[in-house]
Amino acid sequence: MKLKFTVALLVIANLCSGQAQLQETYASSITADELKEKLYIYASDEFEGRETGEKGQKMAITYLKNKYTAMEVSAAKDDGDYFQNVPLVIVKTPEVSITIADNQFEYYTDFISITDAASNVLNASEIVSVGYGINDTRYNDYSDIDVRGKIVVAMAGEPKDSLGIYGISGTKKYSKWSNGRQEISSKRDAAKAQGAKAFFLINESLFQRYASYYKRRDESGGESNLALDVNDNTMFGFLVSEAMGTNLLNASSIAIDFKQVSKPLISENVAAMIKGSEKPNEYIILSAHLDHVGMHDGEVFNGADDDGSGTVAILEIAEAFKAAQDNGHGPKRSIIFLHVTGEEKGLLGSQYYTDYDPIVPLTQTVSNLNIDMIGRTDPKRLEGKRNYIYLIGSDKLSTELHNISEEMNSTYTNIELDYTYNDENDPNRFYYRSDHYNFAKNNIPIIFYFNGTHDDYHKATDTPDKIEYDLLENRTRLVFHTAWALANRADAVQVDKAVE
Ligand SMILES: [Zn+2]
Repeated sequence: MKLKFTVALLVIANLCSGQAQLQETYASSITADELKEKLYIYASDEFEGRETGEKGQKMAITYLKNKYTAMEVSAAKDDGDYFQNVPLVIVKTPEVSITIADNQFEYYTDFISITDAASNVLNASEIVSVGYGINDTRYNDYSDIDVRGKIVVAMAGEPKDSLGIYGISGTKKYSKWSNGRQEISSKRDAAKAQGAKAFFLINESLFQRYASYYKRRDESGGESNLALDVNDNTMFGFLVSEAMGTNLLNASSIAIDFKQVSKPLISENVAAMIKGSEKPNEYIILSAHLDHVGMHDGEVFNGADDDGSGTVAILEIAEAFKAAQDNGHGPKRSIIFLHVTGEEKGLLGSQYYTDYDPIVPLTQTVSNLNIDMIGRTDPKRLEGKRNYIYLIGSDKLSTELHNISEEMNSTYTNIELDYTYNDENDPNRFYYRSDHYNFAKNNIPIIFYFNGTHDDYHKATDTPDKIEYDLLENRTRLVFHTAWALANRADAVQVDKAVE
């Protein structure tokens, strides 16, 4: 019995070391030289800083597609297209005139638009006041009113008692219904969900803040925002001054003439996949953003670190998994290599993926490893201690994921895993600032790999010659090992700390 047990252990040990050997072998195909060769092309001036929707970004996606085609790693989408179109819009201030009784109200002075509605003319007489305009499980202004097809007017804030206790939170903490920008979107979306034709939010301080900001921006010819072009209704929405609000509440009719001047723009995510051999319907997504901030004053912002480093890392990892698959050691779960666009414009490509068009079901997506800047060192760290990487989010949703990441590192890569920015209260809020966040908000466990910012961050000087390729190699291998473990272990990592 004893003997047999020992033999069994030996067999298991051999199997284990065999696995480890395999893993090492494929990881060693990820090299500084290959990363460098790719990055010098991807972050070259020719790619013009890969501005979302522009020529350089189109060159980037073509480059990626050609790499996957050459590696014989197929597209993630069923139709065989590596590109996922991401519909965007260049948001411009609309031309609007609003008349109440015989008074004409002015853009910037009295109101600003808070929706991206299509051009339309509206003459209406049904104006309904909805209190705060809140629709929450604990407090609902819409419970007794039907606002379908009507003009809805809401006031600022949320209910609070004389002791300062908020009705919704039950504590002294305000909720999203009176939290600045979130107040606008929450109340607007509530009105939209109720079928309102137009929504007015009276909030003097928010109005002053946003109106002056947009006025300055528009007068200086400043850059327009990009947004996802996923608007599915034509509700008008306006943030208005208190003076205009008073007029509204006393009005019996209103005329709105709204001219939309925003322009559509198409950009693309790129997605390739290696299908799992045993659990093809469980997915690990490796992501990096393919875009950067383009050109300014004739200078190319190369974005070698941001996020050329993550992009070429994903390509090298794909190559390693493909080699493993070709030798009969393919991953048991499927691995998706996802290059997202519009990150620099507000995580747009990843948001489109998770919120509107997931290529594979989010419920079957077991983890996301996101890489954004792993080729440099943070000058704030001590001299000489360059073998590190900041990890963010690894323990937020799954203790298991965190432990696997630690174990892979101590077994294979020996990098100092620095959790400085893993603090929810860190003022940089990096957890919310790259594409993994769109997966995390869906309770998909994530790890964000990041070297921190540096003097060349978002400057024309973020060039490939400044990348520390030995570090990039080792950090890429860490992501590879972690992905390998996630793809091949018996069970998908458990979410033990889900939010909401
Ligand atoms: Zn970035």
